[in-house]
Amino acid sequence: MKDVSSLMQTQLKADCIDFLNTVADVAELNQVSVYVVGGFVRNLLLNIQNLDIDLVVEGDGISFANKLAEKIDARTKSHEKFRTATLMLQDRTKVDVATARTESYSRPAVLPDIEPSNIKQDLARRDFTINSMAIKLSGKGIFFLIDLFEGEIDLKNGLIRVLHDQSFVDDPCRIFRAIRFEQRFEFIIEDQTQHFIRSAVKINLIDQLSRDRFIKEIKILLNEVAPIKCVDRMRELSLFDTIVPEILKEDFHWAIMKNIEGALALADKIPMPKKPEAWFVYFHAMLMVKNGEVFEGMMKRLNLAKNIDMRLHSAQKCFIEAMSDLKEEKELKPSEVYDIFSKQSPEVVILILAACPNNRVKKYVELYFTKYFASAKINLNGDDLIEMGMVPDSSFNDIFKALRDARINGHVTSRDEEVSLVESQFLK
Ligand code: ATP
Repeated sequence: MKDVSSLMQTQLKADCIDFLNTVADVAELNQVSVYVVGGFVRNLLLNIQNLDIDLVVEGDGISFANKLAEKIDARTKSHEKFRTATLMLQDRTKVDVATARTESYSRPAVLPDIEPSNIKQDLARRDFTINSMAIKLSGKGIFFLIDLFEGEIDLKNGLIRVLHDQSFVDDPCRIFRAIRFEQRFEFIIEDQTQHFIRSAVKINLIDQLSRDRFIKEIKILLNEVAPIKCVDRMRELSLFDTIVPEILKEDFHWAIMKNIEGALALADKIPMPKKPEAWFVYFHAMLMVKNGEVFEGMMKRLNLAKNIDMRLHSAQKCFIEAMSDLKEEKELKPSEVYDIFSKQSPEVVILILAACPNNRVKKYVELYFTKYFASAKINLNGDDLIEMGMVPDSSFNDIFKALRDARINGHVTSRDEEVSLVESQFLK
C-alpha cells in the first residue's frame, strides 16, 4: 500500500483537503472506516481536477452522511433502497456517500441485488481497474491507496481493463463507459476487454439493457468533450449492428457529424433563447438515414422511451422539410427565413448548420436569432380584430401571418400601420 498524502497535499485544492480531513474526523469519532473511491482517486493519480467525490462507508452510509452533514452544515438527500446519500457542499461539489456493498446479478443486464459488505467487495463490483481504487480516510493506514486490481499500473499504461470476464454480461452499460473513458483519456481498451465487448455485442446484450439505462449512457457519452471519437469507436466495435445495422454506414453521417462541433460553437455566440443539447444533436445525426421507411424500422427496433422517440421523429421531419426549403440557391425573404427557423428546435438548427456549412445558411440562422425572431412581434390581437368588425374564424390565422410577415419584412413598423394593412387587405 502506498501513502498518497503528499500527492493529495500538492494536487487537491485547500477546500477539498479540508473537507477530506473533516470526513476523517467524523469517521474517527464514529468509529467507522471511510474511503474515497472511483473517479476521484483515478483523477487524483492522473492530476485531473475532480468535481465530484464518492465516499464509501463500511457501515451505514446514510447515517454517516447525516453526521457529516451536521458537522459541515450541508443538506443531504438519501436513497434508502440503495443505502446511499448525496451531500451538496457550499462550492457546489457533489458528494455521494454509499454503504460498502457487494452486488449480484440474477440475470444479464438487469439491476443487481445489493448487500452491505466491506471495501474489498465494494471495489470488486466496479467497472474497470482504473476506477476500482480507494484511499482510506480513517484509522490505521489513513491516506493510503488501496489498489487491489493493479489500477495504478493500468493508469500508467493507459489501459481500460475489466475486473472479470462476466463484467459486460452483468452490466452492458460498461461497454459505453469503456469507450467514454478510453476516448476521454486517450487510453486503449485492453485486448481481452475488447474481446469481451465484441462477445457481449454478438449475443445482443446491448439490446437487453432497459431503454432508460441505454439512453442515460448514450447521453453521458455524447456529452463528452469529443463525442465524435466515441461515435467512431462505437461503430468500430459494431455496438449497434445487432439492433440498427443501418446506422453510421453512409458518408453523409460523417460529413454532418464532423461539422457539429463548429455549429455548436457558432450557436454559442448567437443569442438563441434555448441552447441546444449537444448529445441529442449527435444522437440524431447517428440515426439519420435518407429513406423514411428505413428510419421508421430503426426507431421501432430501438424502441426508445416515448418522449425521446417523439422528439426524434419530430426532429427528423423538421430537418427534412428545412433542408428541402433551403435547397434552392435563391435569396429568401426575411419572412421565409422566419417560416423555416421558427419551426425548429435548437438541436435541428445545429443539424441544419452542420449539413449546410455555407455562409448563406449561416447568415440566415444569425439573422433569424438576432433580428427576425424579435421583429416578428405584432401589436394587434384577436380582440382588436373583433373590434374592427371581424368575425373570429380561421381567417384570423391568415391575418396574423400577414401581419407578422409584414413586420419581419419591414413593411409595417407600428400599430397604426398594422391596422391599415388589415383594413386594406382583409376588410374590403
Ligand atoms: P466521471 O468522471 O465520468 O464522473 P466516474 O468514474 O466518477 O467518472 P461515475 O459514473 O460517477 O463515474 O461512477 C463513479 C464510480 O462508480 C466509478 O468510478 C466506478 O467505480 C463505479 N461505477 C459507476 N458505474 C458503474 C457500473 N456501471 N459498473 C460498475 N461500476 C460502476
